[in-house]
Amino acid sequence: MSTNAAQLLNNVQAHIAKACKIARREGEEVTLIAISKTHTAEDITPLLDAGQRVFGENRVQEAQGKWPSLKEQYAGVELHLVGQLQSNKADEAVALFDCIHSLDRPSLVTALARAMDKAGRRVPCFIQVNIGAEEQKGGCAIADVSALIEQARAANIPLAGLMCVPPLGIEAAPFFALLDKLARDNGLEGRSMGMSGDYETAIMLGATHIRVGTALFGARD
Ligand SMILES: *Cc1c(COP(=O)(O)O)cnc(C)c1O
Repeated sequence: MSTNAAQLLNNVQAHIAKACKIARREGEEVTLIAISKTHTAEDITPLLDAGQRVFGENRVQEAQGKWPSLKEQYAGVELHLVGQLQSNKADEAVALFDCIHSLDRPSLVTALARAMDKAGRRVPCFIQVNIGAEEQKGGCAIADVSALIEQARAANIPLAGLMCVPPLGIEAAPFFALLDKLARDNGLEGRSMGMSGDYETAIMLGATHIRVGTALFGARD
């Protein structure tokens, strides 16, 4: 079990290194976030034992159930929220997570700024962009990105960069390239893009944070 986790981690790291080399980028420019949603603490422990420290979850409540005790057992864990966040969960999210990838609307800027003020803790946020202009997808419309960035900066929310989940079933590269351009146009460093199926492409196109679940944990139920 733990050998398997170490092997899967090694394998992903090797692919990251290869993509970085081709793209003439340094390996340290890319942070691997292991997406552990739906997996139990027992599934996660082998990856922690293999040295992985950056993890991502998509639900506040689920993360509250497993991460406080894992954080006590393992030093240096960094926890990212990659799922939609309701404003009424802002306090809990600010308390538990070290980075939030789903800031996507003005009301959430207000709620997160208030939560950070209350907690005395500034949590870096990515602004999630609805990069494929999909009807039911989370994320800020491309046309509204600049205004949302301005609002977040005015509210003293530290901005890590932009994040996207491209449309399913079509080539992701053009959407990664578009997110890269939007980040550049807005003077932001971070690009959270790329999942198990396309993280090498994302690295070629400037990803600084890749969010990988299946390739590290196997398929989810
Ligand atoms: C689940 C999830 C991932 C990981 O997807 P895999 O295909 O399993 O690597 C990445 N980003 C977000 C926002 C997710 O919800």
